[in-house]
Amino acid sequence: MPQVVTRFPPSPTGYLHIGGARTALFNYLLARHTGGRFVLRIEDTDAARSTPEMTRAILDGMAWLGLAHDDGPYFQSERQDLYNANVDRLLENGHAYWCQCTPEDVQAMRDKAMAEGRKPKYDGRCRSLGLGPGPGRCVRLKTPQDGSTAFPDMVKGPVAYPNAELDDLVIRRADGGATYHMAVVSDDHAMGVTHVLRGDDHLNNTPRQIHILQALGFPVPVYGHVPMILGPDKKKLSKRHGAMSVMEYEKMGFLPEAVVNYLARLGWAHGDQEIFTLDELVAAFSTENLNSSAACFDLEKMLWVNAHHLRAKAPAELSPLLARFVRELGLPEPGRARLEAVIPLYQPRAQTLVEMAQAAAFFFTPDAGLALDPEAAAKFLTPEAREHLAAVRALLAGLADFSVAGIEAALHGYVEASGVKFKLIAQPIRVALTGKTASPGLYETMAVLGKESTLARLDRALA
Ligand code: GLU
Repeated sequence: MPQVVTRFPPSPTGYLHIGGARTALFNYLLARHTGGRFVLRIEDTDAARSTPEMTRAILDGMAWLGLAHDDGPYFQSERQDLYNANVDRLLENGHAYWCQCTPEDVQAMRDKAMAEGRKPKYDGRCRSLGLGPGPGRCVRLKTPQDGSTAFPDMVKGPVAYPNAELDDLVIRRADGGATYHMAVVSDDHAMGVTHVLRGDDHLNNTPRQIHILQALGFPVPVYGHVPMILGPDKKKLSKRHGAMSVMEYEKMGFLPEAVVNYLARLGWAHGDQEIFTLDELVAAFSTENLNSSAACFDLEKMLWVNAHHLRAKAPAELSPLLARFVRELGLPEPGRARLEAVIPLYQPRAQTLVEMAQAAAFFFTPDAGLALDPEAAAKFLTPEAREHLAAVRALLAGLADFSVAGIEAALHGYVEASGVKFKLIAQPIRVALTGKTASPGLYETMAVLGKESTLARLDRALA
């Protein structure tokens, strides 16, 4: 089998959002799974709406997700000569013709067709006039008028369009520029694309693109059209529900591997496996398992997948990522050793890096800056509790082994000797050390804070 070549051709008129990222991912996976090539092409022919910032943002999004391309990025704005050469080729081989109809003429034809209850389309009146180039003239493709255009869709199964539905497509505008379909088809051919996986909003474009390819005598790639991603309400995905830039998920504390994992499962399945690394996706990917019905975006599920990937990562790998979110809370630059000690305490529970940073903020707050939740302090730092805290403080000050085991033994000793219930001292200590009533295990928390901080925080609570 010849090498598989897939492509991702975003228009830089918006950010890389969830739907685009999933299309990119499927094409990436198909190429990697088959040992093929993955081409990145920027479809920036709409000069008014395309911006270099959006191109940058799309490239950044792809890089963050780890979807490396083998070829490109190509820019359609730089390739007009190729597209026009193909238009010339179609004029020469008789598959295209010059058309002198003005936009008003075409509008009149459409209005008439509508009034007669027919589908509005260009009526082909310049087809046989044998016109040459001239001001205001465009070039149209001689679209087959009968029969149908059929293709096996990798997702939808066999698809067929009656050719009579389609009119003669403009392939070069009156201003001399080649049109969108001409550019796509020329590039797919020039880049050797064998497989096109894209959103089913492009399904209607496919017979048109096949007509141009056939007229040029170019091979037709295999197409697959994946259903749109819907919101949890089963309506079009809204900003609130995920139609935002993938980079927003980075800001929300998602790991790129979790976003990739979730996106893959949104429209593709491999048995009932939910958790995949990128390598596992590459190994398992097959277009046969792409869903032909639309998937609904579910943030709760994506959080669950993220929690999984957070747990699977080594603290040393998470540490630079968490550091960023700690800094964003306005806290001093966290040390590596402290980060790596704190991370395992939160891995069992945290769903995002933001949540982890917020819950663990007290570990990175200077002792003198730790604010105690007034309600928790009033409830737990009672006069009786303070007496115990003072005694525990003295005990800990003399403790040589400030490990989890050492601290545990010391506190158990205190509980036994004093007869106080552990519950009665645990929560006051927790409030003193963390400022709040919820934290990881007390001994672990103390051991990670270290003796100096633990004593300083107890002193502050007692003061
Ligand atoms: N540039 C098109 C888009 O962003 C993609 C076209 C295609 O996949 O053929 O929707």
